[in-house]
Amino acid sequence: MRKPIVGGNWKMNRGTPEECKDMLMNFVPLIKNLLNVDVVIAPPFTGLISAYEIIKGTNVKLGAQNMYYEENGAFTGEISPKFLKSIGVEYVILGHSERRNIFNESDVLVNKKLKKALLVGLKPIVCIGEHLEEREAGRTKDIIKFQINESFKDLNKDQMIQTVIAYEPIWAIGTGKTATPEQAEEIHMFIRGLISQRYDQETADSVRIQYGGSVKPNNAEILFSKENIDGGLVGGASLQAESLAEIVLAADKSFQ
Ligand code: PEP
Repeated sequence: MRKPIVGGNWKMNRGTPEECKDMLMNFVPLIKNLLNVDVVIAPPFTGLISAYEIIKGTNVKLGAQNMYYEENGAFTGEISPKFLKSIGVEYVILGHSERRNIFNESDVLVNKKLKKALLVGLKPIVCIGEHLEEREAGRTKDIIKFQINESFKDLNKDQMIQTVIAYEPIWAIGTGKTATPEQAEEIHMFIRGLISQRYDQETADSVRIQYGGSVKPNNAEILFSKENIDGGLVGGASLQAESLAEIVLAADKSFQ
């Protein structure tokens, strides 16, 4: 059995210390007794320290939205994974489609970041997913296979198991269009099959695969009820304490 994981990706939205504190002071009490789900909040870098003050010692863990693959050096504007660890960050989102599409991050770069995150002991959440035109052209599985091969290159079994995969069809992110539970389940099953081919069934059964793309309180339960969907990565609906708490509750229920 895989424990579901729900991540709140605040993108470049709630980012001041006050905004983070306000949201989390409301959110933490709403979900504090839930033990069947891992919960991660990923504010912008400017909110990490104040967020940690509120969630330290609770069941909510801190995530960053990005990192660089070097620890120190002349990399103006980048963030070292060691710096993130030093302020309580436990998880890091890598290869989000906004990083891939707006900032031209390639699978090669995502792979370097992923290997570094694992090396320093950050838990990676790696996003993959297809564009609408790719889905309409019947190429979804080819795209996913390519991303799995390239972004997850050279990982050993243990590293693969420590990595959370977020399947996020790009056409469903921030658009209000959710993949149907059946569409999402089909791709999650496909991903698990790829992992089983590369490693073995035990590894495939251990890797957590989140769904992301317009997850809301009204669709979370049905999505998370699918056998291969292990929680969600949530953008818009993670900005409000109540809606994120409802989604976390749905994930918690799915594990009972
Ligand atoms: C995301 O940012 O990863 C995401 C899935 O956003 P939204 O829930 O707003 O579609």
